[in-house]
Amino acid sequence: MTELALQQYLDFAYIVAVVLFILSLKLLSSPASARWGVLAGEIGAALAVIATLFNPELVQYKWIIISLVIGAGVGVPLGMVHMTAVPQRTALSHAFGAMSAAIIGIAEYYVGTRQVTRFEMGEISLEVIIGSLTFTGSLIAAGKLQEVLPQRPIVYRGQNIVSLSILAGALGLAVALVVNPANTILFPIMVLVALIFGVMLVTPIGGADMPTVISLLNSYAGFSAALLGFVLNSKVLVVAGALDGSSGFILSVIMCKAMNRSFTNVMFGAFGQVQASSAGVKEERVVRSATPEETASILAAANKVVVVPGYGMAVAQAQHKVRELYDLLTKKGIDVRFAIHPVAGRMPGHMNVLLAEADIPYDRLVEMDEINGDFPQTDVALIIGANDVTNPAARTDQSSPIFGMPILDVDKAHTVMVIKRSMNPGFAGIDNPLYYLNQTLMLFGDAKQFVGSIVKELGGH
Ligand code: NAP
Repeated sequence: MTELALQQYLDFAYIVAVVLFILSLKLLSSPASARWGVLAGEIGAALAVIATLFNPELVQYKWIIISLVIGAGVGVPLGMVHMTAVPQRTALSHAFGAMSAAIIGIAEYYVGTRQVTRFEMGEISLEVIIGSLTFTGSLIAAGKLQEVLPQRPIVYRGQNIVSLSILAGALGLAVALVVNPANTILFPIMVLVALIFGVMLVTPIGGADMPTVISLLNSYAGFSAALLGFVLNSKVLVVAGALDGSSGFILSVIMCKAMNRSFTNVMFGAFGQVQASSAGVKEERVVRSATPEETASILAAANKVVVVPGYGMAVAQAQHKVRELYDLLTKKGIDVRFAIHPVAGRMPGHMNVLLAEADIPYDRLVEMDEINGDFPQTDVALIIGANDVTNPAARTDQSSPIFGMPILDVDKAHTVMVIKRSMNPGFAGIDNPLYYLNQTLMLFGDAKQFVGSIVKELGGH
């Protein structure tokens, strides 16, 4: 085959890969088709990699095979982590992606085959800065989520000014390099400054905001890959990076909206830092609790039940028991639906994934805006390991850190039942007035065990 014909085949493979990436994003937007979306993305990525291996410019495969073995050695165990560890695993993936983008940019500067022009120097510098800061930023984010680093925001006076000055320093060095690309001593300093900025960018942000930050870092990693595509003249990398960058950015915006936070507030607001004042003097308030037996008889007498899953259901891995409960109640002719809050759990779509895993029909999952109007006609709102997303203080208490966050209006249901192990707060670290309402019953226990006991009471296994 002539080189021209081979190049045409490769270009065709890249176009198919790009189409699969776009299709993947489209399919991922609904729980019903999400698995196909993952498959389409995987096939697209595999096709792009295989096509690249046939690139006539490749002279030897030794280093590629070594990298492939190391990458697979790290990637396979990472793919097996528990569902609750997926946010930190994702942060690590972004760190690796950004690191490779930065390293390729660095290699292109030092060992590139051609003389670097000023324009290319601009591309390389920007790409290496974004890649480097995303690398260290993602590592810090993963450390915070894994709790090997303190979750609380680490702040000091004048922090934003110091951080922004460091970023300005990195950009200043990039400009100096564009003016004179041969000034090689500036390049490693620029990389180092960008690495430091990544650390300073994420340390002041609290654990509760990490998923949003990860989504934003995902977007940075994507843009850095797109810039790398320009440097390497690889169209597939430009398109894949741009898709990754823009979808990550859109997701961050959606998450900020769901938490009623602005971008600047997430990035510079140090959320979760001023919890101490609200934890001051606490009056003794009474809560009422119920046993699995009592819970089962209340549920059996209901006509309409709305289940509200949250992070605790994920921790307890209670979704399969929840499915059994759903089956038993549905068989009794009770209308059971699931209310999905956009930020329930610890990552976007967390509850959809878990409920899909337990084969709960998709048409039973109802988004917050759609179901909120139905709570006044709901007999029982059964909350399973959710807390912040049901906290009425978000509607009523202006001093609450979550004031303004849209919540599920469960307090409007006739009876509210809350499965959780204790009176401990959720991720935002604040008390939930819902637990002290007259119509609320606390069902203390591990979600999987408690739901299992209700299932037994209702005649299940
Ligand atoms: P949450 O407010 O964190 O509350 C989870 C509750 O589950 C806790 O109060 C805990 O109480 C209970 N729990 C833990 N383990 C349990 C177990 N084994 N069995 C039973 N209960 C258990 O969760 P959420 O209501 O889902 O809200 C999500 C929070 O994460 C929000 O603050 C949201 O802003 C934040 N967030 C989410 C995302 C996202 O993408 N989903 C992104 C950024 C931030 P006990 O300890 O008493 O059991």
